[in-house]
Amino acid sequence: MKTQYYNAVTQKENGTKLAGQVLRAGGLVAFPTETVYGLGADGLNEEAVLRIFEAKGRPGDNPLILHVARKSDAKDLWTRVPEKARQLMDAFWPGPLTLVYDRAACVPDAVTAGLGTVAVRMPSHKTALALLRAAGVPVAAPSANLSGKPSPTTAAHVKRDLDGKIDVILDGGPCEVGVESTVLSLLGQPTILRPGGITREMIEAVIGAVALSPAILSPLKEGEAAASPGMKYKHYAPQAEVRIAPPGSPRAIASSICAAYDVAGRAGKRCVIFATEQTRGFYCNREYAIIGDRKNPSTLCANLFAALRSYDDGAADLILCEPLDESDMGLAYMNRLLRAAGFAVLQPGVPL
Ligand code: AMP
Ligand code: MG
Repeated sequence: MKTQYYNAVTQKENGTKLAGQVLRAGGLVAFPTETVYGLGADGLNEEAVLRIFEAKGRPGDNPLILHVARKSDAKDLWTRVPEKARQLMDAFWPGPLTLVYDRAACVPDAVTAGLGTVAVRMPSHKTALALLRAAGVPVAAPSANLSGKPSPTTAAHVKRDLDGKIDVILDGGPCEVGVESTVLSLLGQPTILRPGGITREMIEAVIGAVALSPAILSPLKEGEAAASPGMKYKHYAPQAEVRIAPPGSPRAIASSICAAYDVAGRAGKRCVIFATEQTRGFYCNREYAIIGDRKNPSTLCANLFAALRSYDDGAADLILCEPLDESDMGLAYMNRLLRAAGFAVLQPGVPL
């Protein structure tokens, strides 16, 4: 298959119109959102949805999010709109918050992986909204990467993973948030299944206390059921190994990273440090890239996936990273970083 490239910036509405027609005809379109690039198909067309799983190599039991152009579209996809959903939609839609509730009969099994619930979100990205309006259907879309890889935050990332496997890549420039949407279940006690662009603190300010799924910061135990099936798969893994320093002061974090760097370097590994504005001074004479400002975790979220992918050409064997506090956007950052590292944290005296 030859993948067509449309540019939402230079071709303006033409690009989104053409891509909308491809979606209506059952094709696959990668498109920008404010979080990451999504790989979309007509969410009410089971055959089209199954093509997403095939193109990504995604396990069939990992459900998809339905994207809608208007708040009012959600009511057709759920059995009803609960009051808390209404409050959250008013506060955060359009935006990076996905809500999970009981599915309506029109939603195909392939979207929900057979679950009784469906995840819905209205994105805020101008191009995503224009595409959803052009398509005129809810669009099922996971991240537009090969399953297991870091999510794509530019059209070039999508091209690298999916060129020749999908119909269209709609280029709308780099994504702003850089990590996927927050997934919040509204069945029973509201529970964050995946932290993302809308923080726990922001949600609690609207609907009161929400729970955090234990799978956010720790691996699922053998045989444990996943509330959010995506949590059980290997995720966000670049070619290089990733290791995270234990928590501490910036100086203590940098010191454990430097020690690991030097040990790995002596063993012939090419290492790179994902540094921050606050710690760059500690890493002299070592290879590092500054990926953000520790006082503003959103900056690290915005850059993480692109930074991981930038070493996929074999330029590094080991990526050493700093942990953040798990509050505000720090929670989403640590959730992605722990998975990219396979939960591997540096321990003094333990070989890498
Ligand atoms: P992706 O868009 O690639 O990040 O994948 C969507 C994520 O949303 C998946 O990893 C799922 O675990 C989660 N998700 C989608 N639908 C549901 C649902 N009905 N219940 C729980 N989690 C869901
Ligand atoms: Mg994904």
